[in-house]
Amino acid sequence: MTTDFDHIVIGAGISGLGAAHFSARRGLSTLVLESSERIGGCLNSQRFDTLGGFWTEAGGHTCFNSYGNLLSILDDLGLTAQVQPKVKVGYSLWKDGKRRSVASALHLFEAARSIPRIFSAPKIGRSVADYYGSVLGRRNYRDLLRYAFQAVICQPADDYPAEALFRRKPRRKDVIKAFTFADGLSTIPAAIAAQPGIEVRTSQRITAIEADAAGFRVLLEGADPIICGALTLAVPPNAAAALLPPEYTDARALIGGIGMAEFATLVLVFRNTDLDLPPLAGLIAIEDAFYSSVSRDFLPDPSYRGFAFHFRPGVLDAAAQVERACAVLGVAPSRIAAQSLVHNRLPALRYGHTDLVRQLDAALAGTRLGVTGNWFLGVSIEDALTRSRSESDRLFGP
Ligand SMILES: Cc1cc2nc3c(=O)[nH]c(=O)nc-3n(C[C@H](O)[C@H](O)[C@H](O)COP(=O)(O)OP(=O)(O)OC[C@H]3O[C@@H](n4cnc5c(N)ncnc54)[C@H](O)[C@@H]3O)c2cc1C
Repeated sequence: MTTDFDHIVIGAGISGLGAAHFSARRGLSTLVLESSERIGGCLNSQRFDTLGGFWTEAGGHTCFNSYGNLLSILDDLGLTAQVQPKVKVGYSLWKDGKRRSVASALHLFEAARSIPRIFSAPKIGRSVADYYGSVLGRRNYRDLLRYAFQAVICQPADDYPAEALFRRKPRRKDVIKAFTFADGLSTIPAAIAAQPGIEVRTSQRITAIEADAAGFRVLLEGADPIICGALTLAVPPNAAAALLPPEYTDARALIGGIGMAEFATLVLVFRNTDLDLPPLAGLIAIEDAFYSSVSRDFLPDPSYRGFAFHFRPGVLDAAAQVERACAVLGVAPSRIAAQSLVHNRLPALRYGHTDLVRQLDAALAGTRLGVTGNWFLGVSIEDALTRSRSESDRLFGP
């Protein structure tokens, strides 16, 4: 069978574009098929042309010098020298209708007594509530940490597997600790997609994928089938389960049980002069309609400030979300300079996930099918790329 491409990747988030980058760098012709109109998935810098290009992140906002796979891609693309340091601004709590310091919710004595356990307490196989409740104290977990964690993963955090949050990774000392880019993190997917050896097609409707001994046939709505030798699925678990070729029954059964948390992200921009609010990284909400708000204050702009509010699903309608966000920021809705609403999704991992991934890997072993995403090791950009790298090594050799 002659192929159209050596490798087809489905999904143009950072997992899929990372998978494409790793195969293109091996000299393999690589096609990325994306269902939406834009690439980047959760890397989504909302740019407002009417405000001179001012942008605010609606998704991922921070990369760290411990993101080794990401940095290797940035090195390949010549982007490492362009990273922008994030100005240090702190998070505050939003509780009972007021901004408060994070320290105000901390039980110091309990933390001091519990923290030595961080060196001995096992993390694997424990929930976030169980593990962090033991290493920082149950009251600290109840009053502060559960809200801080749900602010990060934008969903209830108690039952999340502890090993999927905050993985320790070596730091690269030649790079700033926490960084972004002058035009936001969407710079990264755009640069990966623009390089030679990678073709990206957006707005693609894949109807089925067929497998045979020689590779895969991707069937598309309104276009000819495309044939490839190897294929990587880099889409959320429900989409991966639907796209798996019929004979992958074990893999489908395993993936089908992984949930996704959906939430609305409201991006609001104001003129600096309209806000009476000290610079802040964001707000961690304690029992409110939103999980968190992340600001753009880490890269100050002379004219504007931007905020992304991540709302719990089904609590407030769109108009009430705008009202709530403005009330939190202490500004009238009439002062909004620009706004957008983004539908976001993150995996809702559960106890036993590591074991599920082990079984999935066993079901995929020996095939030319890769499966990657932010639902293997954890949700961070680096966790996603670590999976893409290891699947690339499995398919094409280290
Ligand atoms: C609000 C928020 C804040 C975050 N902050 C950070 C942060 O600061 N630092 C950090 O490291 N991480 C952060 N993350 C996590 C990180 O950004 C994401 O986990 C990561 O970008 C996900 O990449 P992905 O490619 O695995 O998935 P996605 O980005 O979800 O990409 C999947 C892609 O597949 C496409 N797709 C779906 N179905 C199909 C189909 N049938 N056919 C073709 N294409 C399809 C989708 O349209 C999408 O483009 C954040 C995430 C969110 C949402």
